[in-house]
Amino acid sequence: MKINTQLVHVGVGSDAKTGAITTPIYQSATFRHPALGQSTGFDYSRTQNPTRKVLEEAIAVLEGGSDGFAFASGMAAITAVLMLFKTDDHIVVVEDCYGGTYRILDKVFTNFGLKVSFVDATCLDEIENSLTPSTRCILIETPTNPLMKIVDIRAIVKMAKKKDIYVVVDNTFLTPYLQRPLELGADLVVHSATKYLAGHNDVICGLVVSRNKQLGERIRFIQNSTGGILGPNDSWLLIRGMKTLALRMDKHCQNAQALAEWLQKQEQVETVYYPGLPQHPGKHIQEQQATGYGGMLSFTVRDSRLAPHILKRVKLLQFAESLGGVESLITFPAVQTHADIPPEVRNRLGITDCLLRVSVGIEDIDDIIADFEQAFAD
Ligand SMILES: *Cc1c(COP(=O)(O)O)cnc(C)c1O
Repeated sequence: MKINTQLVHVGVGSDAKTGAITTPIYQSATFRHPALGQSTGFDYSRTQNPTRKVLEEAIAVLEGGSDGFAFASGMAAITAVLMLFKTDDHIVVVEDCYGGTYRILDKVFTNFGLKVSFVDATCLDEIENSLTPSTRCILIETPTNPLMKIVDIRAIVKMAKKKDIYVVVDNTFLTPYLQRPLELGADLVVHSATKYLAGHNDVICGLVVSRNKQLGERIRFIQNSTGGILGPNDSWLLIRGMKTLALRMDKHCQNAQALAEWLQKQEQVETVYYPGLPQHPGKHIQEQQATGYGGMLSFTVRDSRLAPHILKRVKLLQFAESLGGVESLITFPAVQTHADIPPEVRNRLGITDCLLRVSVGIEDIDDIIADFEQAFAD
């Protein structure tokens, strides 16, 4: 089946007992044992819950992996992956990663002796040079956040495989509808499913998918041991959101492309960062590893005074953090999402007070552009 059909049919037919079309919400903490030493497959909902199981099996299929795991947030999912490692292990991470990923590495996991190098992952030499005999993992996002750099997943996999290093891809921005890193050789995929997969800005959730059963068993053990699971109601909301992912992603991509092209014609705009623009340095790699450019873009204004002006003036666009929902959102990465990255690093990366990031929603593109038009005006 094609992925858009798979998405629509997530959980359909999952309840043989009643034939319910949608996945029932099993709001039960515990399950009766049929007899001594027997189990229905469900004993206690931290370990496994029937609603969560439908979701976990679905994301494993969608990403082309062996096992899926649902967590209470994207950060809980990333935490579970980082718990694969131990004191003195070294991991390499894209430098313009999600702010929360930077923070958990810099302020939490370093307390447990995990060593981290932040690199420009578009520069393969820089990654190669950062590897040490203790490197266990390369954690990448592509496109990166907020500068939309494209990281070559196949090239990184090739480098890592020679040295037995795991490649973990945060696939939040593109989702399996546009990019399937496990098929390109990655070992683990993580998601903030809060974003495009759920798609409606109404639930916080995270997912992990493993390439093979062996890695899956390790994540399962960590998930059950640490307990940051997604509850049955939120699992249901995520399943519900995922059914329309294909339609939404197509529209997000179409609107983002049109907005990027419009923004780049505006006099007050200096640079537009969107991988679908012909001059984007990562466009070619993007086309080899994904089937679309996504719904996220960033741009810089020539005069830093214009950024707060736009944030104040937008009416349709909401000035809010997060991304991937049906509504268009605009944010100011230097102050909002990336405040935990030290100012000197932010400036070097280009996350300045002239940079705005847009999560382009699925409204009519004319209305999105009209809102920008009036917000740019004096
Ligand atoms: C939002 C986000 C996260 C964190 O996910 P939460 O669901 O907010 O915990 C991780 N990675 C990326 C790329 C994100 O956008």
